[in-house]
Amino acid sequence: THDVHIIGGGLAGSEAAWQLAQRGFKVRLSEMRGARDGRGGSTPAHQTDSLAELVCSNSFRSDDDEKNAVGLLHHEMRRLDSLIMRAGEVARVPAGSAMAVDRDVFSAEVQKALESHANIEIVREKVDTLPESGVTIVATGPLTAASLAESIGRATGADSLAFFDAIAPIVHHDSIDMSICWMAARWDKGGKDYINCPMDKEQYLAFVQGLIDGEKTAFKEWEADTPYFEGCMPIEVMAERGVETLRFGPMKPVGLDNPHWATPEHPNGRWPYAVVQLRQDNKLGTLWNMVGFQTKLKHAEQVRLFRTIPGLENAEFARLGGLHRNTFLNSPILLDRQLRLKSAPHIRFAGQITGCEGYVESSAVGLLAGLMAAAELAGRDWVSPPRTSAMGALLAHITGDAEADSYQPMNVNFGLFPPLHDVKKKSRKEAYTSRAKADFGEWLAAERIPA
Ligand code: FAD
Repeated sequence: THDVHIIGGGLAGSEAAWQLAQRGFKVRLSEMRGARDGRGGSTPAHQTDSLAELVCSNSFRSDDDEKNAVGLLHHEMRRLDSLIMRAGEVARVPAGSAMAVDRDVFSAEVQKALESHANIEIVREKVDTLPESGVTIVATGPLTAASLAESIGRATGADSLAFFDAIAPIVHHDSIDMSICWMAARWDKGGKDYINCPMDKEQYLAFVQGLIDGEKTAFKEWEADTPYFEGCMPIEVMAERGVETLRFGPMKPVGLDNPHWATPEHPNGRWPYAVVQLRQDNKLGTLWNMVGFQTKLKHAEQVRLFRTIPGLENAEFARLGGLHRNTFLNSPILLDRQLRLKSAPHIRFAGQITGCEGYVESSAVGLLAGLMAAAELAGRDWVSPPRTSAMGALLAHITGDAEADSYQPMNVNFGLFPPLHDVKKKSRKEAYTSRAKADFGEWLAAERIPA
């Protein structure tokens, strides 16, 4: 006996469950990881059975809600009592102006909140077909189990739903040589939270060549024509695009004075020719991920090549990089404005499978799906958050404003907001966020959310 069946206990499903349960609705939350009946499963990226596992980076990106769209999304989610943001706060680790978390603490917090909620029943089971009736939220993510993906394909008539995402390696801190590396952020923005490995020109050129020559994991037949999403492109693909591509991307050395290279003329040190940056990955500070270093190089090749990076000669890897499929719907044509499948409106989609991109965005769309289902169950009309807010802009994009023909997973960004051409470029970001906060506040008050 439940009011809503949520399929998928990832970021979106966990947030949706929380929002519904907090409003008094009974939720059945089905998660395939950890099923004991032998019919469960996992994904190529998940490594635990915890709810809301972060599969790659440990960052929720910028927490700046005055100049940054994802920071604004954090702000709006906090105002809606987001479980993901609550747990993120508890699990927070230093990352300058970004919000990064200890992934184990984070997932444990989410799981604890849901397990102890009287209105939530967590069932460890794999769901193979879309339910024929009952209020349902499908939040099975970019790595939806194949059986369910087929069922969704049949219901939507979709043929191609896949693209690629890649994972960056994680290094044990005590294996990093800090007599070569140093702590700093570019231009010292927001502290000195990153570990930097310096390269001179010769080292950089050899490294780029190594990436190009290195043995890659072979594509499976069904993957061959799948395009990359620009935000998560493997480093070897960047290297192939040109010798300078990495130096203008994740290996950008600007604003990074290396104190180990200090001279009387340059007492603060000099910028290296290129850098590899690592960001703290857990609360203890024992694990650090290689920023922007997602890769499909073979594991042995990664170990060999990454140990040529100055300071990482003896690096021990807690996890190596990888490459994975991503499944998403052509939401602009398949879903209505309330994230419901037009052909089967009892089914609502949430999270990355709707074609948003990122932990925060997936959680935000889960939050919205939860609120929408709650309104529906209460017999109330649903009014979406204003288009001028981060949530409203993202939702509008997914549910109809994006071009269906070229629909690609999308991070939240000011380009999705109704433009403010009259405002000078210099102050435009602040103008977007202040308009958003005012309009979002009005919406919250008018809709009496949170109820
Ligand atoms: P998920 O968090 O994946 O949750 C889906 C859940 O559904 C999983 O727990 C899964 O086990 C379960 N499930 C699937 N099928 C079934 C079924 N049939 N029955 C029951 N349960 C099922 N975003 C970032 O912001 N930063 C990153 O660094 C990042 N890296 C990524 C790396 C990879 C390899 C991938 C694939 C994605 C990455 N993303 C990243 C994108 C995205 O933000 C995450 O995938 C995010 O977890 C999506 O949230 P979600 O709730 O939609 O899906």
